[in-house]
Amino acid sequence: MRLHFLGANRQVTGSRYLLETAGAKLLIDCGMFQERAFTARNWEAPPFDPSSLDAVLLTHAHLDHCGLLPRLSKQGFKGPIYTHAASIDLASLVLEDAARLQVEDVRQKRQRHDREGRRSPHPYEPLYLPEDARRTMAQFRAVKFDEPLQLPGDVRVTWREAGHILGSAMLEVHADGRRILFSGDLGMPDKPLIRDPAPPPPADVVILESTYGNREHDRTRTVEDQLAPIISTAVERGGNVLIPTFAIERAQELLFHLNNLLAEDRIPHVLAFLDSPMAVDATHLFTQHRDLLDDHARAMLARRDDPLSFPGLMLCRSVAQSKAINRVRGTAVIMAGAGMCTGGRIKHHLERNLPREESAVIFVGYQSQGTLGRDIANARPGDSVRIFNHAVPVRASISQISGMSAHADRPALLRWLGQLQQRPRQVHLTHGEASVSQQLAEDIQRQIGCAADVPEYGQVIDIA
Ligand SMILES: [Zn+2]
Repeated sequence: MRLHFLGANRQVTGSRYLLETAGAKLLIDCGMFQERAFTARNWEAPPFDPSSLDAVLLTHAHLDHCGLLPRLSKQGFKGPIYTHAASIDLASLVLEDAARLQVEDVRQKRQRHDREGRRSPHPYEPLYLPEDARRTMAQFRAVKFDEPLQLPGDVRVTWREAGHILGSAMLEVHADGRRILFSGDLGMPDKPLIRDPAPPPPADVVILESTYGNREHDRTRTVEDQLAPIISTAVERGGNVLIPTFAIERAQELLFHLNNLLAEDRIPHVLAFLDSPMAVDATHLFTQHRDLLDDHARAMLARRDDPLSFPGLMLCRSVAQSKAINRVRGTAVIMAGAGMCTGGRIKHHLERNLPREESAVIFVGYQSQGTLGRDIANARPGDSVRIFNHAVPVRASISQISGMSAHADRPALLRWLGQLQQRPRQVHLTHGEASVSQQLAEDIQRQIGCAADVPEYGQVIDIA
């Protein structure tokens, strides 16, 4: 059996693995590369024939795990894409949104270049169109958690709860007499709304994400304790609060926390805008897939107390609604995508609010190298960042909230792996910056006592 590492290797986006067993050829995830340094890979032909794949197995619906599926279909893959029903619903939102953003980005880039009289060395075209994304959705097939799926070539795959986003899974693959466990993205235990990650099933080889492999999330202050003073201060100053947020999970967690803070009167009753059609749709999916929610959220829903709604919350789908936010007097809490500020409506809000001392930007998640979010998070007073190709001074207060990470930290990863009754023969670390994954590999060798390495992009490993 051969495993090809084809993304999120020594960096954190573009998850993709090719598994060649004696009787099947499977792709696990097919994510988009989002860090500037690696986006060119989105355009490269994959190092395998897409039409020769038997199936794609999808862990979850984040763009860096499913974002190149429409491209894969365009390149000739016509087979099934297996994943949980909630991930199908979310992927449908994510892929269409990604297509629309690309079309819009291409349009703006061309306009800008025309104005400036220059030409891009890259073609002015999106990776795929909204109709490509919609066509790909027809290839999705729903699987259930904890029920093995039998595939051609005597391969058996079971999706297990990963506790990362709604519907997220780790994949237990049985093939050629070996058990391989793909962690997908692994969540932190005790996150609001969704269930905790399942313990790892027995495995010979584990492919483990390592986004926060060298860090420990701050457990001393709750998310709500951190949010409350920032929001209250911004209200006193008359500024806005911007929260760049992923439309899925992070946005719903924020609604959950704001709901709690308001219910307990811990922040002034300001208007809050969820300025993202995708986040609005994703929010509805949480109540549709309530069997995937944790006990607390299910109990709230059972007594008709929606954990994701409160007075003063505006759900903005249209551009007109989004623009109307600019006319709000006083403080507005604005949650908008993209989570790393790489596109979407947040860029407009940042352009307007970053130069305002009275406004606040709150980062609630990881900001990859080479993203606007990272530039802003790293900005010192007086620095500028580039938005829509011009310099925008950073005068607003910038905060990073901890405790909302969708990814397990170092102690959680080690504890999760430590639950394996039998040590795996090998752990391969992916989905982390090189030095981070390397540190975790050393910790795993020392603490768990099994071999751990950090494969390179394109590396192929034989599993005997
Ligand atoms: Zn993810």
